[in-house]
Amino acid sequence: MSALSDKARRIEGILDALHPDPAIPLDHVDAYTLLVAVALSAQTTDKKVNEVTPALFARASTPQAMRALSVEEIHGFIRQVNFSTAKAKALRRAAEMLCDEHGGVVPRDFDALVALPGVGNKTASVVMGQAFGEQTFPVDTHILRLAHRWGLSKGRTPDDVSADLKRVFAHASWNKLHLQIIYFGRAQCPALRHDLTACPICSWAASKARVTAEARGLAPTRKKRPRPTPA
Ligand code: SF4
Repeated sequence: MSALSDKARRIEGILDALHPDPAIPLDHVDAYTLLVAVALSAQTTDKKVNEVTPALFARASTPQAMRALSVEEIHGFIRQVNFSTAKAKALRRAAEMLCDEHGGVVPRDFDALVALPGVGNKTASVVMGQAFGEQTFPVDTHILRLAHRWGLSKGRTPDDVSADLKRVFAHASWNKLHLQIIYFGRAQCPALRHDLTACPICSWAASKARVTAEARGLAPTRKKRPRPTPA
């Protein structure tokens, strides 16, 4: 077994101990409501999404019901999330496509999902994984950063990092690990620079150069401007 595989197994053991049964953080009842919630979560916190979806789903929890609403009505429910205007238009158009092209149900097909307005690779992967039980490894900015810090990937794009993570972790663990890394990041990783030696994973998984650089404040703390792109 390679050193990288050893490292991955050790990381998974720590994540299993800390977050043995990670729940999906976005409230939903089926594939469609999960699709909507994940699409709304782009550049928005899960907490905020969970605050707005109860009223939205009370009016429209199916593509048919969402289609019956105007863009303005949808916007009225989701105005507190970022990029709400674009997301309201996308939800309305996606509902139309689901009704017209997929019989009013969410297709169990990655390519069909990413063809929907407002649905990017991450949303499609989450729906395929968490709603349909396919093993996927969606990568958001937090998972991307931790994969770099833990030395599991040097990929520059979420797709590259996802491919690297799929190589080092067992297929059966992908969905679980996706959620565990998100929970680990939220629970353990402060926003500001800090002592990596105190971290249950970076203390041994990060390179010495990285620890030293971080301690000196040399490590990049890039802040990207949010983009209104499909998640
Ligand atoms: S060192 Fe900090 S940022 Fe890195 S994984 Fe540990 S807690 Fe998170």
